[in-house]
Amino acid sequence: MQQNKVDIKSMSLPELTAYMEAIGEKRFRAKQLYEWMHKKQAASFDDMTNIPKVLIQKLKEDCELVCLKQEAAQVSAIDGTRKYLFALPDGNVIESVLMRYKHGCSVCISSQVGCRMGCRFCASTLDGLVRGLAPSEMLDQIYRIGQDIGERISNVVVMGTGEPLDNFDNLLRFLTILTDENGLHISQRGVTVSTCGIVPKMRELADKKLQITLALSLHASSQERRRELMPVANRYEIHEVVEACRYYFAQTGRRVTFEYSLVGGVNDTDEDAVRLAELIAGLNCHVNLIPVNPIRERDYVQPERRAILNFKNKLEKNGINVTTRRTLGSDIDASCGQLRKKFMDNQK
Ligand code: SAH
Repeated sequence: MQQNKVDIKSMSLPELTAYMEAIGEKRFRAKQLYEWMHKKQAASFDDMTNIPKVLIQKLKEDCELVCLKQEAAQVSAIDGTRKYLFALPDGNVIESVLMRYKHGCSVCISSQVGCRMGCRFCASTLDGLVRGLAPSEMLDQIYRIGQDIGERISNVVVMGTGEPLDNFDNLLRFLTILTDENGLHISQRGVTVSTCGIVPKMRELADKKLQITLALSLHASSQERRRELMPVANRYEIHEVVEACRYYFAQTGRRVTFEYSLVGGVNDTDEDAVRLAELIAGLNCHVNLIPVNPIRERDYVQPERRAILNFKNKLEKNGINVTTRRTLGSDIDASCGQLRKKFMDNQK
């Protein structure tokens, strides 16, 4: 963000309306501006043709229209997955991914520059946290990708770099604008927020009673094992985290997703599957198995195909809904901070 400039693209419509009044403009200008930013996704103030020239001038002086710059894009020859590297106004780079499914286009966005959660298998956290993204910077990942492919985006998953609940206020504002009927108007049900399990924030989110899907990165069936993989488990015990998921369902009626990265020889035994089923028994949920994506910096490996199938069957036999995530974009570093990491390492 440029210093001292107002980030108007991060304002909700009521906030923008208040801002227009504060600078002596008519209230209806707020809605016009909001539509330019969030519906038509204008890349500059000059594109806003029904706004008087004097107001445009004033906006240019006082405000910044945050737009990301595409630094690189990679298209998977296998499945059409697209990975984007975007530069933020301050020069930091982030990555976003477009995935095509039968039911529509889904964008996976970053919520922070880097991450401080330290999950052992994840490339996004290796260099720590730089800063949280502004709502405008989260939104513009979706806007730029939608424009690039010229198709409507129907789903958004906050599963890229960063811990969204570690950037909570900006995340909420982002969700408000994203799902607003005066903006891109993505259905709340089309949005998934994935967390490593920051319990108080999960509960706070539940209390908002949104219709978004909560995904919890569980990755282990026992507290000991989870602590080895995810430092956040030192703060919140595994049962406490699952309890927060039960609370999320109670408050919102939304089925919770558990993400479970299968790591060969670490969390993939029959015993793990049974313990996992017991841990989440009775909760309206769904388990998404993700064969771990090996990163250069660690020696985690995927289990054998057979072990993955076996784990899935064991869960099903114990009454759990489970899917194995299809690997998309495996030819383009499409997962979790790998493209950004490569880019940054090359720059060093
Ligand atoms: N911070 C959030 C969202 C970002 S990560 C969270 O922890 O949920 C999105 C998902 O990818 C998480 O479940 C994360 O644990 C998982 N993930 C990260 N690196 C991975 C890897 N190398 N292989 C498989 N899954 C990975």
